[in-house]
Amino acid sequence: MKILVPVKRVVDYNVKVRVKADGTGVETANVKMSMNPFDEIAIEEAVRLKEKGVATEIVAVSVGPTAAQEQIRTALAMGADRGILVEAEGTEPLAVAKILKALVEKEGPQLVILGKQAIDDDMNATGQMLAALLGWGQGTFASKVEIADGTARVTREVDGGLETVALTMPAIVTADLRLNEPRYASLPNIMKARKKPIETMKPGDLGVDVTPRLTVLKVEEPPKRQAGKKVGSVAELVDKLRNEAKVI
Ligand code: AMP
Repeated sequence: MKILVPVKRVVDYNVKVRVKADGTGVETANVKMSMNPFDEIAIEEAVRLKEKGVATEIVAVSVGPTAAQEQIRTALAMGADRGILVEAEGTEPLAVAKILKALVEKEGPQLVILGKQAIDDDMNATGQMLAALLGWGQGTFASKVEIADGTARVTREVDGGLETVALTMPAIVTADLRLNEPRYASLPNIMKARKKPIETMKPGDLGVDVTPRLTVLKVEEPPKRQAGKKVGSVAELVDKLRNEAKVI
């Protein structure tokens, strides 16, 4: 069984994101970029399925700039077998989902494991759109995945509890935080990953038009928080809450 794992290049989660001076987006020049954290979890899950003998091949795919090769290499160092880079920038979830659909038709995986959301745009849409385009079942926000007899049993984190769904494969899974703890790539595996193949193509090669459908009107910083104040007693705190903040 082949597994396809889409991995997105995003601003590293430790970086304090800055809005560009002209308000057109987020500053990415000279900023540390990494694999979207939920995609690391997706890769880890695929690698564990391969280690269990359930999967035979893992293909990591990124839609992004040439530099997204770095994130594909990370996936290869974690245990993916080969990579595909589709060179396109600023793609919206629908365009990415169309590209992934074309790759699914070419590669024939039984499972696509995505992150539940990319931490840059917080869209939380690509997996769902891909499932709809393919007409496949989807198990989103997965905290557990078990594969047996052509069925994927996915435990999902829903408000106030867990839901378990059975998906007829081929299927789409999106990874939540508690699915697993991704491994660090070891040095020998980083070295080995350098020799693994990465195929490069353009959206046009897959017959996909990536023209944006959305126009970003403005990106703003959140309002600055005011400094806190120390109070000397509970009575003073209650007084301030009542008469200054007017919240009680
Ligand atoms: P989103 O819908 O943008 O929040 O992203 C959800 C998931 O879709 C991510 O965690 C990735 O697995 C996948 N994805 C989104 N955009 C890309 C991209 N440009 N390249 C590869 N995978 C992507």
